[in-house]
Amino acid sequence: MQSKFKIYISVFITVCFISSCNWFSKKQTEETTDAVIETPQPKITVPTFSSDSAYAYIEKQLSFGPRVPNTKEHEACAAWLIEFAKKHSDTYHVQKYEVTAYDGTVLKSTNIVASLNPTAKKRILLTAHWDTRPFADQDKERKNEAILGANDGASGVAVLLEALRVMRTQKLENIGVDFLFLDSEDYGQPADYNGYVPDSYCLGAQHWSRSQHVPDYKADFGILLDMVGAPGAIFTREGTSAAYAGWVLDRVWNNAKILGHGSYFSNQATEPIVDDHKYINEIAKIPTIDIIHHDPNSASGFGWYWHTHQDDIKAIDKNTLKAVGETVVYSVYEYDKTNSAL
Ligand SMILES: [Zn+2]
Repeated sequence: MQSKFKIYISVFITVCFISSCNWFSKKQTEETTDAVIETPQPKITVPTFSSDSAYAYIEKQLSFGPRVPNTKEHEACAAWLIEFAKKHSDTYHVQKYEVTAYDGTVLKSTNIVASLNPTAKKRILLTAHWDTRPFADQDKERKNEAILGANDGASGVAVLLEALRVMRTQKLENIGVDFLFLDSEDYGQPADYNGYVPDSYCLGAQHWSRSQHVPDYKADFGILLDMVGAPGAIFTREGTSAAYAGWVLDRVWNNAKILGHGSYFSNQATEPIVDDHKYINEIAKIPTIDIIHHDPNSASGFGWYWHTHQDDIKAIDKNTLKAVGETVVYSVYEYDKTNSAL
């Protein structure tokens, strides 16, 4: 995803526009937030998410090296993800395409979708990007070398892989789930690049949002995971998520509280950012939130490891993976139960 500074104005205008057109649903969102804090619902039974397993899936991704499009490491990771999807889903799709990066490089890209309950009309979209950044533009050293992306890339993918694996063991009754592994998210223009190239990040999400893996694809809502493994990470009510999908934030944040993970999920509102969910919201029109680590003490708003060579396995804590993984799995089954009368 992209530092907020370059995109702040355009997103701010968009958010203002949406806010003014959509005051009624915004008001409802605020009321819902108050209500859910006071009356948490009882727990429902869900399959057990293993943070050990998620951690191992991060190590596996790192074992390929940086997963930069047009490299053999990227290709090898794609093959592993496709095998995983094939083994653990009810049906899967591989979407191969080419996109052009900010510098004219054509990126051979692959989006992978693993689906559970594929015929269900009501669906949830869970997504993360699996590619990693080709340079370390926020680092002081080795700026031109690709980063490992343990947190920025691998953590979100790992949580979704583990969620997919365990959710296949407890059948969803009323809804289906699609796990979308997006490519070419992090090939956006470097921080010191001369000139601004709009929409240079999230190329895989832009492609998928315009050309989905099945015709007329619809989901009731989506959850994007990005940088969900850092020790003590705080996930805030990020502005793009709040503008398009406030009710989803309410619901997921409340589920985190029910599970005892409230310390990770803050009710603080933070500035809108550009990440894959922006395009899924704006182009595919699926209300989608971003669970993403916010660091109030950094100039970028992102964590200390962001777009540096420190984004390695030391940037990962199993407790954070567990908090996010359990919250996502619970949110799916909670929504399934809610829709039992439909
Ligand atoms: Zn990134």
